[in-house]
Amino acid sequence: MDLTLSPSELAFRDELRAWLLANHPGREPVGDEAAFAFRRDWQRQLHAAGWAGVSWPTKYGGRGATLIEQAIYNEEVVRAKAPQAANVLGLAMGGPTVIAHGTEEQRRRYLQPILSAEEIWCQGFSEPDSGSDLASVKTRATRHGDEWVVTGQKVWTTFAHHAKWCMLVARTDSDAPKHKGLSYFLMDMDQEAVQVRPLVQITGEAEFNELFIEEARIPHENIIGGEGNGWAVAITTLMHERATLAFGLQVSAQIALNELIEKARSTRANGQPASEDPVIRQRLAQLLIEAEVLRLNAYRGLTAIMRDGVPGPEGSLGKWHWSEVSQSLTELAMEIAGPRAMLAEDEWTYRFLRARANSIEGGTTEILKNIVAERVLGLPRMR
Ligand SMILES: Cc1cc2nc3c(=O)[nH]c(=O)nc-3n(C[C@H](O)[C@H](O)[C@H](O)COP(=O)(O)OP(=O)(O)OC[C@H]3O[C@@H](n4cnc5c(N)ncnc54)[C@H](O)[C@@H]3O)c2cc1C
Repeated sequence: MDLTLSPSELAFRDELRAWLLANHPGREPVGDEAAFAFRRDWQRQLHAAGWAGVSWPTKYGGRGATLIEQAIYNEEVVRAKAPQAANVLGLAMGGPTVIAHGTEEQRRRYLQPILSAEEIWCQGFSEPDSGSDLASVKTRATRHGDEWVVTGQKVWTTFAHHAKWCMLVARTDSDAPKHKGLSYFLMDMDQEAVQVRPLVQITGEAEFNELFIEEARIPHENIIGGEGNGWAVAITTLMHERATLAFGLQVSAQIALNELIEKARSTRANGQPASEDPVIRQRLAQLLIEAEVLRLNAYRGLTAIMRDGVPGPEGSLGKWHWSEVSQSLTELAMEIAGPRAMLAEDEWTYRFLRARANSIEGGTTEILKNIVAERVLGLPRMR
């Protein structure tokens, strides 16, 4: 593809860059509640200025941005070190799924409050025995008149403690083949039957939760994409997760690498800056090459979307590669820091610990390798 931006794309980038510079709210406060309130305010500001849901159609409150503009947007917000929007899962996954599979009535009901951060969304896919093999979910939904009664357990549900709506995949037909017996619901989290319990990560944060669902009620009209069609709808959600991530991720890798190079220059080891150590120099150079490959592959993925109209399996390659770069980068930072790396308050120690999840969240590396092997390279299926 042609990597040069057109005059209108340049204008889009410059307008966004200037807006981010003028409106950046500063550093995020520490603590879950304070950070969440800060992100919600930030998203309101983005929304008011027309910078939330940029790729959504204008008739649903978006900006109708092209794919290239969406990619520019993802790059620029990371480059500006702007805070994350509070409703990240609603914006990146929930909204696009409702736009693709929802009825016009559902679009009118759900999209606007996602953009304004009035209603936060979470993703209830994984269960204790169903992660990679999502089609094996056991959470069961049984129809009683105009509503469904749902019982089961979900796990790793990011931001469930802030969410109003949960994108819930549940089994509605136990006799059908496993991919066919699923439906995709929007479950109201605001009911006694849904208990949210935080899970504390290695970083000390509780970003995600367990969900215990005991006869929760969901109106029939809250099914997205029709009864029994949950698998196809869930795949749309996952494709959006990986495809839209790629551009932000490659820039975040470039930024982290530049910061690491600075760290290597300013940290002395054996009487000289760590950046003078030939082994460290070689590893930094390797990471520089990897980050560039990541950037070029993100463009390659974009070309595929422009050609085929939907995010393809190439998104899996970018996510897999990024997790490796992110983990190698933070491991090298720990080596450069030496004994200081053991201090929990060091920013790089936090990043190192958080990076352990990169090869699991949004699809594990092993699963992504299977997708690349089978669907990108056309190798024989493993089963
Ligand atoms: C930070 C974070 C946030 C998350 N947020 C959410 C969320 O909001 N909502 C949600 O629903 N889930 C969320 N998840 C869950 C995530 O999607 C799952 O952890 C992931 O899909 C893996 O599932 P699992 O943990 O059950 O592992 P398993 O599927 O049990 O896998 C265990 C190991 O076996 C390997 N494996 C499994 N099957 C195969 C195979 N066929 N071939 C080769 N290797 C295989 C895996 O790669 C892995 O190493 C989150 C996870 C993390 C870490």
